[in-house]
Amino acid sequence: MFVKVACVGGGPAGLYLSILLKRQDPSHDVTVYERDPEGSTYGWGVTYWRHLLDRLHEQDPESADVLDADSVRWSAGVAHVRGLTTRHGGDQG
Ligand SMILES: Cc1cc2nc3c(=O)[nH]c(=O)nc-3n(C[C@H](O)[C@H](O)[C@H](O)COP(=O)(O)OP(=O)(O)OC[C@H]3O[C@@H](n4cnc5c(N)ncnc54)[C@H](O)[C@@H]3O)c2cc1C
Repeated sequence: MFVKVACVGGGPAGLYLSILLKRQDPSHDVTVYERDPEGSTYGWGVTYWRHLLDRLHEQDPESADVLDADSVRWSAGVAHVRGLTTRHGGDQG
């Protein structure tokens, strides 16, 4: 069934909804309206866990592979706060 979608906001939710709709049926008419300039991002980065990537892989293996290849993994995070040190094991790789 053909759908026509006007999506207000080009954040992760809006953009990914649009990608999934077009993957479902390329004839869908999807327009994303974003108030910020094209290519702009605000913030520092996105952290996610392996399970999210696995779920993405089920729906969209191409995007999941690109994300996987461009992601940075760490296996030992250390925080020093007022003389105290705590360690986090990081992700499973
Ligand atoms: C400081 C900070 C750090 C974060 N770190 C992480 C993290 O490490 N990992 C993680 O998973 N999540 C993180 N988050 C949360 C994550 O950013 C949000 O969960 C995510 O951005 C939500 O996506 P969204 O598409 O629903 O909304 P948004 O990302 O808020 O996107 C909404 C978009 O709509 C646009 N918009 C709004 N109104 C209009 C309008 N009237 N017309 C046109 N465009 C409009 C906005 O400009 C925006 O681009 C962080 C959030 C913050 C604030």
